[in-house]
Amino acid sequence: MAIISLRHVHRHFQVGEQLVRALDDVSLEVEAGDYLSIMGPSGSGKSTLLNLIGLLDRASSGRYFLDGEDVTALDDARLAATRNRTIGFVFQSFHLVPRLTAAENVELPLMLAGVPLAKRHQRVRQALAALGLEDRAHHKPDQLSGGQRQRVAIARATIMEPRVLLADEPTGNLDRKSGAEVVRVLEDLNARGITLIVVTHDAALGERARRRLHMLDGRIQAEHGQGG
Ligand code: ADP
Ligand code: MG
Repeated sequence: MAIISLRHVHRHFQVGEQLVRALDDVSLEVEAGDYLSIMGPSGSGKSTLLNLIGLLDRASSGRYFLDGEDVTALDDARLAATRNRTIGFVFQSFHLVPRLTAAENVELPLMLAGVPLAKRHQRVRQALAALGLEDRAHHKPDQLSGGQRQRVAIARATIMEPRVLLADEPTGNLDRKSGAEVVRVLEDLNARGITLIVVTHDAALGERARRRLHMLDGRIQAEHGQGG
């Protein structure tokens, strides 16, 4: 069974007189553990698609099944609960909380989930160590390099052990070397079973994925690689 199943999904935005078809009849099946990239020109709907898969947004029409559950009609509270349990999200600009340390940023989802303090601290220590950040635990985001910030963001996104990890231009603000490190971390997670979907402008990064979707004008215009 597919972990992600989109059926004839549309996402329209009314902007003044104009109807923007950000997603225009997108159907997509993703198997658990797969690795996909989404490429395409600016404005083609990549972020809209990723936000929708990540339950940060809702379809205007069409159906979305996540891990077999029809999430199309869930109310906001149940949508948020499903998102917290199932989805990790990594953004181009990291989205760390600036006044919290690296460790506190990673701890946030555990706090929201009500995990007890001792357990939280143990898991945060392990997560930071796994990403080579043990000696940066008490640094604030502005005391970290871009690559370190993104690794903290990945630790935060995966601390609840989600089955799906979504990354929107995760290397877009990084130099080549830091970008390569972040890609290695994401691919390690995929090798250990997480379903990985990466939106990217970087053709070299996009080419690494097993399935490669190309978007244009709100549609999946082509797919390369296996599956589909
Ligand atoms: P991409 O990530 O491929 O650059 P987006 O998914 O961000 O593209 O945007 C797809 C289209 O939808 C664009 O034309 C964009 O202007 C429009 N769009 C995205 N979000 C909104 C919004 N909240 N309101 C109105 N239009 C939007
Ligand atoms: Mg985008």
